[in-house]
Amino acid sequence: MSISAIDMLGASSAGRDQEGLPKSIRAVAYHHTDRLATASLRRQFDYFRRHYRGLVEDDLDAFFVRGERGKARKPAGARGGKPGLIISFDDGLVDHYVVAAPLLEEYGFRGWFFVPAALPPMAASEQRAFCEANGLFLPPDSGERIGMNREELLDLARRGHVVGCHTMNHRRFSGLVDAELIDRELTLARDALRTITGAAPRSFAWVGGEPDTYHPLAQEALKKEGFSYAFTTLSAKIRLDADPLMLHRTVLDADMPYPLFLAKVEGFSDLTHLGRRKALEARLGRPRARGTSGSSTEEKA
Ligand SMILES: [Zn+2]
Repeated sequence: MSISAIDMLGASSAGRDQEGLPKSIRAVAYHHTDRLATASLRRQFDYFRRHYRGLVEDDLDAFFVRGERGKARKPAGARGGKPGLIISFDDGLVDHYVVAAPLLEEYGFRGWFFVPAALPPMAASEQRAFCEANGLFLPPDSGERIGMNREELLDLARRGHVVGCHTMNHRRFSGLVDAELIDRELTLARDALRTITGAAPRSFAWVGGEPDTYHPLAQEALKKEGFSYAFTTLSAKIRLDADPLMLHRTVLDADMPYPLFLAKVEGFSDLTHLGRRKALEARLGRPRARGTSGSSTEEKA
C-alpha cells in the first residue's frame, strides 16, 4: 500500500467527533526534539490529531479494565472511534519541555516523559559527563543544560502530562546486574520523582532496548515495586490482551522524513521487530499477547 493510500485510509476512518473507546493503541517514543525539528514535529502531530486520540495513564487504565471485562463479555461500545495513541519521550531532555510539550498541547495531546531521575536535580555543568557515562543520546545542539530541571518536570505534571521512570541513572539492565542494583535503580528513581512531582511514577520505560537489557530480574522488580506499565522499543500495536508490563513502542525521530514517519506509525516497524519480540518472550516469559517470529533491527531508548 502506498503512503498516500495509508494516509487516506486513516483520514477516512477517523472523524474528529467519533471518540469511542479505542480497540488498539499505538505508543511512540521520541528522543531529542530540538527547535530545528519543529516544522517536522508539527506535521507529525497534525497527522496524530487527525488519526488518533491521545491517551494518558487513566485512559490506559480504562482500556485494560475493559480488556479484563471483555474476557467474559464484549461490552457495548467496544468498537469504533480512533485508535489510541501514547506519545512518549525518553531521557528527560530540556527540549522536551521547551519544544515538545507546548506543541503537544497545541495539538490537544499530553506526553509521557520518561526521565532518568538523577538528571533533574543535577548541576548543568555535570550533565554532559553524566550523559556520556550513562549512554544518553546527546542532542546535536545541546547547550550546557541537557536535562529538564525539577521545576519544569513539576510544571509538566501539573499540566496533565505523564512523568514516568527511566531508572535513576539511565541504567541498562544488562551485563553484571543483580536484583539489588535493579531494585536500587527503581526505588531511588521512584522516590526522587515522587519528591519532584508529588506522585510516584506508575509507568516505566526500559533503558537501552538492546536484547540483553530486558532483564528477567528487572521484570520481577517492576512487578514487586508495583509499576502499572512498562514500555519497550519493540514496536507493536497495544491490544486488549497485551501484558501491561510489556507494552511496545515505535521509535520515531522528530526530524525524520515524513514518508518514513508514516510507514513506521502504520506498521513497518512492527514487522521489522517481530523477531526481537519473540526473543523477548523467550527471555522474560510469554506475555498474554500473541507471539510472532521474523527478523528485526534494534532501536535505542
Ligand atoms: Zn533512554
